[in-house]
Amino acid sequence: MATVVLKANRDQRVTAGYLWVFAGEIARIEGQVEDGGVVDVRTYRGGWVGRGFINRNSSLTVRLLTFGHEAIDETFFRRRLQDALAYRQRVAGTRSAVRVVYGEADGLPALIVDRYAQRVVVQTLALAMDLRKPMLAELLTDLLHPDAIYERNDAPVRRLEGLPLQAGWLRGEADPVVEIDEERARFTVDVARGQKTGFFLDQRENRLAAAALCEGATVLDAFCYTGAFAVHAALAGAASVTGIESSEEAAAMARRHATLNGVEDRCTVTVANAFDELRRLQSVHARFDVIILDPPPFARGKETVDRALAGYKEINLRALKLLRPGGVLITCSCSHHVGEALLLNVVAAAAVDAQRTVRLIEARGQSRDHPVHLAMPETRYLTCLILEAGRST
Ligand code: SAH
Repeated sequence: MATVVLKANRDQRVTAGYLWVFAGEIARIEGQVEDGGVVDVRTYRGGWVGRGFINRNSSLTVRLLTFGHEAIDETFFRRRLQDALAYRQRVAGTRSAVRVVYGEADGLPALIVDRYAQRVVVQTLALAMDLRKPMLAELLTDLLHPDAIYERNDAPVRRLEGLPLQAGWLRGEADPVVEIDEERARFTVDVARGQKTGFFLDQRENRLAAAALCEGATVLDAFCYTGAFAVHAALAGAASVTGIESSEEAAAMARRHATLNGVEDRCTVTVANAFDELRRLQSVHARFDVIILDPPPFARGKETVDRALAGYKEINLRALKLLRPGGVLITCSCSHHVGEALLLNVVAAAAVDAQRTVRLIEARGQSRDHPVHLAMPETRYLTCLILEAGRST
């Protein structure tokens, strides 16, 4: 087995449980290993760190799998998958849709597995996991008994690993559109054409928390995708729900979801750029009791945080101006780089500009099936703030 030796004094992070070793932290590699293979990792003085996957074509060169000495074989992956499943059983029970594997947080770096009823969707976002797809498909079939497994490997991060973007059936073949339920709502998920792996499971608990505040309310769901927040709001008794979505295809699905749930009489979906539409709604003096803002990640890297903050500020300011006194703002960031503290700052600044007193009701994160690895802050990426906008200051 080859050994990656870290530079002197570059072992503090891994010693604290961090799972990534970057190229610049490596002093040398002893022995032969192919990219995608397994290496031992040691400190400069020869102390044991752990064992992980290597890819010299990626600046994220080693992804640690264990701090122990166990063999990285099929039994290892079976055990990790079983652990991931046991955890989901505890936090998600027999739900029809669940994130079964959330990468590093499940000790399975760069592997994402979602189950949507009988279908399973897989992403292998690093070379070593990608090379092990046949074994993973075998294990997942054995443990989950899906009717088919779809590979959604069109995520651009794969380029950082030198991997091609591709999608298709990995095992079996079935209708890519599958129906799931989420508490009392029903949704269809298109595993082939939907965004990411088809559905935003990470917002599940936040949708339920939001819906609980929507009885009798006029609701605006900006960036609504296939209308998951909107449908829950309507089912919870909202008087009317307006969705805004830039993708025609997602908006069409949102309308179908309203019909599927019998709330089409109270749901409208507008295809528009939310920035423009929020401005237009303000110009016609529209008012809402609840506004949900769930935009795509405006900041994909550290470099873009400033521009992203301006974007978040803009939509939050518009939303505050559209809220009636006592109205509720549910505002999200799914960028790890704009976490709770920064998002709160943004809303505080927007509140000053909007001349509204804003109170935080609840700060939330991602669903329980996306647990946060305490040593890996990158695994915490979703913030959802529930706020109340009082009268004008
Ligand atoms: N709340 C949704 C997920 C939203 S994902 C859920 O719970 O399922 C963000 C959505 O914003 C995507 O559907 C994307 O197509 C849409 N979007 C991105 N930029 C937009 C813009 N400028 N205006 C309106 N929608 C936008």
